[in-house]
Amino acid sequence: MFPFYLSHLCQAPYFTPGALGFHRSPHPISILSRKLMSTATTRSNISLPPPESDIPIFTTVASYREWRRKAFIENRSVGFVPTMGALHEGHLGLGVYIYFIHLNHLLIYIDPSSLILRRSLSENDLTVLSIFVNPAQFAPHEDLETYPRTLERDLKVLAEQQVVASNSDMSSNSIPTLDSNQVKRPSAVFLPSVREMYPGGIEQEIVKQRGTFVEVTAYGEQMEGKSRPGFFRGVATVVTKLFNVIQPTNAYFGQKDIQQALLLRHMVTDLLLSHPSPDHLHIVPTARDPSDNLALSSRNAYLSPAGRKVAPTLYAALKAAEECWLAGEGDEGGKNKNKKECVEIARALVERRIEEARDHGLDVEITLDYIEMNDAGTFEILDDSDTRSSRGNEAAPVILSGAMWVDRTRLIDNLLLGDFGTVVR
Ligand code: AMP
Repeated sequence: MFPFYLSHLCQAPYFTPGALGFHRSPHPISILSRKLMSTATTRSNISLPPPESDIPIFTTVASYREWRRKAFIENRSVGFVPTMGALHEGHLGLGVYIYFIHLNHLLIYIDPSSLILRRSLSENDLTVLSIFVNPAQFAPHEDLETYPRTLERDLKVLAEQQVVASNSDMSSNSIPTLDSNQVKRPSAVFLPSVREMYPGGIEQEIVKQRGTFVEVTAYGEQMEGKSRPGFFRGVATVVTKLFNVIQPTNAYFGQKDIQQALLLRHMVTDLLLSHPSPDHLHIVPTARDPSDNLALSSRNAYLSPAGRKVAPTLYAALKAAEECWLAGEGDEGGKNKNKKECVEIARALVERRIEEARDHGLDVEITLDYIEMNDAGTFEILDDSDTRSSRGNEAAPVILSGAMWVDRTRLIDNLLLGDFGTVVR
């Protein structure tokens, strides 16, 4: 049964189907945009009409803005979850439910801190999710063409998402009472074409790009930025555009892409953005496969069965480095291991797993890209001699991150060491 709250909203002018670019069914605008496309003729900019969905779909900036204007007028908060689609439980949320009995009723309480879409649903009146495979963040040799696109399934899965949210502040871990609960579902999907997001067209090669781009200097040059030059320029540019359009009260990003999320917090601060403000850009813990802790990712779909078997190696390596970093008393007596030793332990674990895979005759190639430790505040690489105790208790947490190729699939993962409550919130 559709709850009153939602049926009320569906009758509200937020969902006026006549709006330009609003879809419950195919709309000629996206076909028109295909004809207009002049540069970067990739699979991603061929925008076919979106499949039908119970959730309103906005394919144009103008139609979304009309919807958002009404939410502003009615003072409704808007949560935003940007994605590239191919949705998985990392986007939606692993069913982390806590069941308990309260006043003789079985209540299901969803821990909102561990789920990305669900957290937005819990904390906002309305939730918008965008699906846009952003050409500007793929280098010409990368997987833009083959990036998984599962739009029909994504919309179907999204329509099934709901949380029973308490009217009280969910983030305060308050226990909902039966009559204060309400069911919340995604309110809208923003599904723009490449032309809509890049009116002047977009080239993948940076030297050929013309127009306005956003670069977060220094923060974008370590870790992932070192391995993928231009990646964060593409991310910062598209997220600035998305924030300009969506005007979210709160935005939610995954710890899985920790550098991206922290860099965006810097960007929001530096550009004096208000929607979201830096305090309202939230980072949600990484969702993992409960069987082996592999970080969930759209790119996991590329893995062969043998590749899937060895993929958790990266997490295991990071855990080994974490254990090394945390070992010892942590006093000034120098009992802690230093960064160099811990990274070497992680690398050695990867080497061992490569040998084991070979011994078991697994047809898979594993190549470590990097394992690194960076300061979560400055992104600076830690000195080889740094230890937990030498950094002191006041220091920012450490990002222990890595990237590893499994055949032609690049996997990334990270752990936060130290007091990370200021980062993941
Ligand atoms: P993507 O579609 O890969 O660009 O991801 C969209 C958002 O979901 C980003 O903020 C990611 O960090 C987040 N995300 C992706 N995978 C996970 C995961 N396993 N756990 C938590 N967040 C994730």
